[in-house]
Amino acid sequence: MPFHALGLAPALAQAAAELGFTTPTPIQAAAVPAVLGGGDVLATAQTGSGKTAAYVLPLLQRLIASPGHTPRRVRVLVLVPTRELAAQVGEVVRSLAQHLPTKTKTAVVFGGVSINPQMLALRGGADVVVATPGRLLDLVEHNALKLNSVDVLVLDEADRLLDLGFADELSRVLALLPEARQNLFFSATFPSAVQELANRLLREPRRIDVPGIQVEEAVVVQQAYLVDTNRRTQLLRQLIKTQGWQRVLVFVATQYLAERVAAKLHQGDLYATSFHGGLSQGARKQALDEFKEKRWDVVVTTDLAARGIDISQLPVVVNYDLPRSAVDYVHRIGRTGRAGASGLAVSFVTPASEAHWHLIEKRQGLSLPLEVVPGLEPTEVVPVVEAGGGVKGKRPSKKDKLRAAALHAGGDPLKP
Ligand code: AMP
Repeated sequence: MPFHALGLAPALAQAAAELGFTTPTPIQAAAVPAVLGGGDVLATAQTGSGKTAAYVLPLLQRLIASPGHTPRRVRVLVLVPTRELAAQVGEVVRSLAQHLPTKTKTAVVFGGVSINPQMLALRGGADVVVATPGRLLDLVEHNALKLNSVDVLVLDEADRLLDLGFADELSRVLALLPEARQNLFFSATFPSAVQELANRLLREPRRIDVPGIQVEEAVVVQQAYLVDTNRRTQLLRQLIKTQGWQRVLVFVATQYLAERVAAKLHQGDLYATSFHGGLSQGARKQALDEFKEKRWDVVVTTDLAARGIDISQLPVVVNYDLPRSAVDYVHRIGRTGRAGASGLAVSFVTPASEAHWHLIEKRQGLSLPLEVVPGLEPTEVVPVVEAGGGVKGKRPSKKDKLRAAALHAGGDPLKP
């Protein structure tokens, strides 16, 4: 089904085509007509599903149908949890709007950088404002914009907005908005806090549930390697070299480790850098831009990069440290195999994290062979007390204890 069949004007279908979007993704097919209809929307949506264009396209159509911005009047407000997502959504709005006959002004505002350029950018008003909540409130306090005539509010990644502690800011922003408006609510998950917010905010919403991030084996090939904790960097370097991997995103558990692993790889002949929340906004932006421009071979990151950020066609994702949960695993491997391109997701499993890995596998309905690279056979001994400890809140099962005991003895009774 082509875009225009969803009720989009030819100019917008053309704008989509210029970005290479010829066929709507499932969320676009469902959300575009709903948003055009003017009602509230409650959508389960993940990054990678095409959710941004799913609301940007119909909102642009509504804007060009009644053009003209007035000073300090914002017509569409998109709230997002992170600076990176703000920049990314802003880019989608600008690229889809650039060829339209009617000019649409978009401002992107987020914290961590100087407020002055953002105040300047808002001079003369903006039709679309994409913002993180804290900086938006600062700008309102500086009288740089008013929110009392917002027609449409979009909450993108609502679950993360709440996770990151934006609930107070969100309430303050909501209090500044007019009662009569359209609300579009996108969230990857629906824990009770998100559900409550949705109940409070939305009126008879159209509910849209599209399949989650695609992790079919055909799209994302998944592999697991068993390796000792202190030989993971060596394994990573070896795999990059022997498999000819290019543009690898490596997930580690801490900011410290991100720095250390990147530095170690960089000492060799790999272009490696780190990307995490401890870096300045400038350094984060630079690392991401340069990675997108393919100037780095490897970016070592924390879960900061697991969600929201779209780096198209990322070929390889490595879990150097395993994610804490199966949900995080899905988000991480969703960084590859995007929009139909195939990708590779590799997990490093250590003897100590093996029980945790099997739990992730079980939740994912996976059963991957644990590969061992010759010369890097695991020798690490897992202390019995820690055998089941890899799984937070779960006591070691009988199986875990058996396995740990056997590993001490040099075998594994649960393996053939
Ligand atoms: P999003 O979920 O909005 O972050 O989008 C994920 C990726 O899918 C982005 O790289 C988009 O450029 C791409 N995309 C969005 N819509 C389509 C479409 N209809 N056809 C192909 N690619 C798309």
